[in-house]
Amino acid sequence: MKKRVLVIGVGIVGAAIADRLQAEDCSVTLFESYIPGGGTTAAAMGHLVVLDDSPAQLEFTARGVDLWRKEPLPARCEREACGTIWVASGAEDVDEARAKADRFARKGLETEWLDAARLREREPSLRKGLAGGLRVPGDQVVYPVGAARWLLDRALERGAVLRREQVLALEMGGLRADSGRFQADAVILAAGLGTSHLLPELPIQPRKGHLAITARVPGLIHHQLVELGYLKSAHGRVASSVAFNVQPRATGQLLIGSSREFAGFDASPNRELLGRMLRLAQDYVPSLAQVPVIRTWTGFRPCGPGNLPVIGPWPASPGLFVAVGHEGLGITTAPATAELMAHHIVGAASFLDPDPFLPGKVAHA
Ligand SMILES: Cc1cc2nc3c(=O)[nH]c(=O)nc-3n(C[C@H](O)[C@H](O)[C@H](O)COP(=O)(O)OP(=O)(O)OC[C@H]3O[C@@H](n4cnc5c(N)ncnc54)[C@H](O)[C@@H]3O)c2cc1C
Repeated sequence: MKKRVLVIGVGIVGAAIADRLQAEDCSVTLFESYIPGGGTTAAAMGHLVVLDDSPAQLEFTARGVDLWRKEPLPARCEREACGTIWVASGAEDVDEARAKADRFARKGLETEWLDAARLREREPSLRKGLAGGLRVPGDQVVYPVGAARWLLDRALERGAVLRREQVLALEMGGLRADSGRFQADAVILAAGLGTSHLLPELPIQPRKGHLAITARVPGLIHHQLVELGYLKSAHGRVASSVAFNVQPRATGQLLIGSSREFAGFDASPNRELLGRMLRLAQDYVPSLAQVPVIRTWTGFRPCGPGNLPVIGPWPASPGLFVAVGHEGLGITTAPATAELMAHHIVGAASFLDPDPFLPGKVAHA
């Protein structure tokens, strides 16, 4: 007997879960109140990146990148196998790069240390005087909305059903939506920032980010370039921060990030922070000063109680599962999240240890 599953939210996370569960022979119905992929997913950079803030995060992101690499993404997903260079400014960064290379090597992940001269050969637009860079060739880039839509389309081809309506409340054994009540064996809450309306016990805070996109300058940059201090910006809980992060897009444009800020749901640009972000990018890549920025936007990362998303059964409500709080890594980790969810729902083999992600286990920052 097929398991009936209701998935609330069609961002990259809900789409990946629906696609995977439908492949596991579940009968999936998705609910989306806005536009599939139109929430935080539409605001993202699309860097598929291995990060190593904790052993669990390293496992999780490496699995996500690995699963994405195996997907036959069509051209509309704009996959770029550009790799990442973690840019080292000084001696402290070089030590950090070495430690990162060791951690990656222990996981069997390939890296290459570039000294100052080799870094300039690879990325001549970077400013002179940098200490070097750690290249991670396996990281990639995708167009997030295209990737979410592709996952959704595959789920629909596999037999999933999409309902364009709002879920109003969770109920025992199901949910209540605009058009009425729905019963199922499992309800999966993948509603990003909409989570707390339906499950107030699980607060998901908006963490605002700015991005800027330039006119076309093909060939100016070849890798996703990120400063080694990025994790300090990503995982501190300071009120606001910026980090150098520039991405070459398939269109020849450059996507410039990144900022983090707790500012409620105020989507208006913070000109001071945006200015700092753009000046930092020009500091690393001086010729960016001559490249027009044609558009900027803001988006809200769904930030949970700790540094990992919350994925698994919600203990107080049998049949309810959550997959939320992916902060700045939801594009990278959507397929790994779907794999964990398949483990919880149908007992599929899980490559990852589900424990660190369980509700109640996610360490508070
Ligand atoms: C500026 C920025 C840059 C980023 N860059 C990257 C990056 O380079 N790499 C990376 O891996 N990640 C990145 N991220 C993070 C990534 O975008 C998120 O982690 C991810 O998109 C979260 O996906 P989600 O499906 O959980 O949420 P969402 O995409 O927000 O999807 C949730 C969906 O649920 C729907 N919904 C909510 N409530 C209801 C309801 N009651 N009924 C029906 N539907 C409902 C919403 O309409 C929405 O479509 C970035 C984020 C930002 C803001």
